[in-house]
Amino acid sequence: MGETFVLDMGTLIIARIITFVMFAAGITIMTLRRSRPETVLFCWGLLCGICAWVTAMFSRATGNDWVIIAYAGFVSANVSFQWAALSTLTERRVKRVWFFIPPAVSMVLVAIIGRDISTAAFVTSAVLCVQYAVLAWFIVTLGPTAVQTRTSILMALAYAVAFVAAAGRFAGEFLWPDLIANPMAPVPAVTLPFLGAYIGTILITLSWVAALKDRAEDALANLAFRDELTGLANRRRFYALGERLFASAQRDGRNFSLILLDIDHFKSVNDRFGHEEGDRVLASVARNVQKLAPEAELSARVGGEEFCLVFPGTDAVGAQRYSERLRDLVASSVTLPNGEAVRFSAGIAQASDEDAVLADVYRRADKALYAAKADGRDCAVISRVAA
Ligand code: GH3
Ligand code: MG
Ligand code: MG
Repeated sequence: MGETFVLDMGTLIIARIITFVMFAAGITIMTLRRSRPETVLFCWGLLCGICAWVTAMFSRATGNDWVIIAYAGFVSANVSFQWAALSTLTERRVKRVWFFIPPAVSMVLVAIIGRDISTAAFVTSAVLCVQYAVLAWFIVTLGPTAVQTRTSILMALAYAVAFVAAAGRFAGEFLWPDLIANPMAPVPAVTLPFLGAYIGTILITLSWVAALKDRAEDALANLAFRDELTGLANRRRFYALGERLFASAQRDGRNFSLILLDIDHFKSVNDRFGHEEGDRVLASVARNVQKLAPEAELSARVGGEEFCLVFPGTDAVGAQRYSERLRDLVASSVTLPNGEAVRFSAGIAQASDEDAVLADVYRRADKALYAAKADGRDCAVISRVAA
C-alpha cells in the first residue's frame, strides 16, 4: 500500500454541520404550514445539534474553554428534544424536568472534571448512551401504536446505531485516553464513532420524516374514512372494508351477518330538544356501539341516524343476540333531557349463497328494518331469507 487513507476530521465536522442545517431547513420548510408539536421539538433538537458544533469550533478557534460547557449542554439537549418529540408522538407524558436533567448533568460534569473537548466527549458520550437507550426503549414499547411498524423499526435501528456510536466513543475515550486526547485525531477510535454518530443522525432524521409522513397519512385517512360526529367508519369506509369482509367470508364459506339499526323517532328528538341534543344522542349511541365493538368487525354510520354493524363469522341469531345487548345498554345509558330512554329498531340479515355483493345483504337488512319499524319499533327483525 502506498498511501495511507486518512479521514480528515475537520471536513467530516463541516459535512455534519451542513447536514444538520439542511435537515433542519428541510423539515421546517416541509411542515411550515401545519407544524405539529413533535416536528417543532425535533427541529429544536437539530438546532441544538448545530449550536453544539458551532460552539466546539468556536472554542477550538479562540481557545475559549468555557464554551466547552455549553457544547456539552447542546449535545445532550439535542437528544432531550428528540425525546420530548417522541413523547409527544407516542402520547406518553414525561415530566418536563427529565428533559433538562441530561444537559444539566453533562454541563456540571464537564465544569467539574475538565473544560476540554476530550472530557466533554467522554462525559457527553456516557450521557448520550443513557439517552439513546431510553429513546430506543420508548420506540420499542410505544412506537408501533403511533406510527407504522416499518417506521418504528427504522427509528429503533437509527437509535441503536446512535447508541453504538456513543458507546464506541465512550469506550475509546476510556481505553485510549492518550491516543485520542485530540478529538480531531485521524485515528479509527475517533473517526469510526464519529462516522457512526453521523450515520445515526441521518437515520434518525429519515425515520422522523417517515413518522411525520405516517401521521399525515393517518390524518388524511381519518378525514376520508371516519365520521366526524361519532368517530365510527363512514359510508365510504363501510363499503370499501365491508365488501372485502363479505368476499372473504363467502370465499371461505363462513357466516356473515349485518345489523342495520335506526334510532326511533329521532326527528322528534331534534324537534323537541334541538339539533345539538340530537348530535349528543348520535355520539352516545355510537360510543355504546364501540363499547360492544369487539364483536362487530366494522361499525359504521351509514346515514343520519342509521348505523350498520358487520359481523363476519356470526349467524343472524348471534347478531340478534348482540343487538339485544346493545338495546339494553343504549336504553340504560342514553336518555333524553326529560328522562326518556333512546330506542332503536334493527334489521338483521345473514349472507346466503345467492348474495353476490355486500349490497345484496344490505338490501335485505334494510327490508327487515322496515318491517321492525312497521312492527311498532324498539325491536329487531331477522330477514326471512336467512332465518
Ligand atoms: P323513525 O322512527 O321512523 O326512524 O323516525 P325518525 O324520526 O327517526 O326518522 P326520520 O328519517 O323521519 O328522521 C331522521 C332525522 O334525523 C331527520 C334529520 O333531521 C335527523 N338527522 C340526520 N342527520 C343528523 C345529524 O347529523 N344530527 C342531528 N341532530 N340530526 C340528524
Ligand atoms: Mg332513518
Ligand atoms: Mg329513525
